[in-house]
Amino acid sequence: MATKIQSAVRNPKAAMRIDIVTIFPDYFREAFDYGIIRRACAAALVKIQAHDLRSWTSDKHHIVDDRPFGGGDGMVLKPEPLFAAVESLTGARRREDVAAGKRVVLLSPQGKSFTQSLASELAQAEQLVLICGRYEGVDERVAEALVTDEISIGDYVLSGGEPAALVVADAIVRLLPGALGNETSASTESFSDGLLDYPHYTRPSEFADMRVPNVWLNGDHAEIAHWRHEAAVKKTKRNRPDLLK
Ligand code: SAM
Repeated sequence: MATKIQSAVRNPKAAMRIDIVTIFPDYFREAFDYGIIRRACAAALVKIQAHDLRSWTSDKHHIVDDRPFGGGDGMVLKPEPLFAAVESLTGARRREDVAAGKRVVLLSPQGKSFTQSLASELAQAEQLVLICGRYEGVDERVAEALVTDEISIGDYVLSGGEPAALVVADAIVRLLPGALGNETSASTESFSDGLLDYPHYTRPSEFADMRVPNVWLNGDHAEIAHWRHEAAVKKTKRNRPDLLK
């Protein structure tokens, strides 16, 4: 059964559709009910639904996993329910049948890296299906023949794809036109121009012997813009020199 996330239920005319396939749909019960994502759902920019993979099983125990060929620890998610889920959600039985405008994503530590530019690309899609693995992972035929993208959110191993689906959905939804209150903010954030964001400060101007840079207090817009750029370059050099290559 699909667990309809509350905010999604409120907006049947969503422009983008995100379907999450998981064995733990309740994991997402309130996850999108805060801040920008909640507002995007409320404004019908997106409709997000979490679906229980077990609803695409045909046996009486709703089994979704099995032991790996060749032995070894752990279980592997079986291909049949995942192929059935994608067919029912997108109409496609194989990767080559997935319509333009739809993307079927397997969350996996073996995938290509999720970056801001990939988030921007995926934000153009009309429908995203996010498949969450568990246990030892997912039968490889899913990656070979079903999905359009295999995506990793970083070089570490999570217990399941659910936190990765949250990360991917969040990063994409905030890029949908109208999702951010201030339309310019996405274009000035980290990674949008190959740099990290510049440092931000707020009141008080002096705290525990630490003063905000003078430039912020003098109101000279040209000087502030110059300072922001220099500070962004400096921070990028310090924390992410790889971005400057
Ligand atoms: N045996 C796999 C390996 O070593 O590559 C790890 C499987 S992991 C315990 C279970 C599931 O968590 C994966 O199938 C995937 O859906 C998800 N997962 C784990 N790490 C992830 C990452 N860095 N990015 C995206 N998904 C991840």
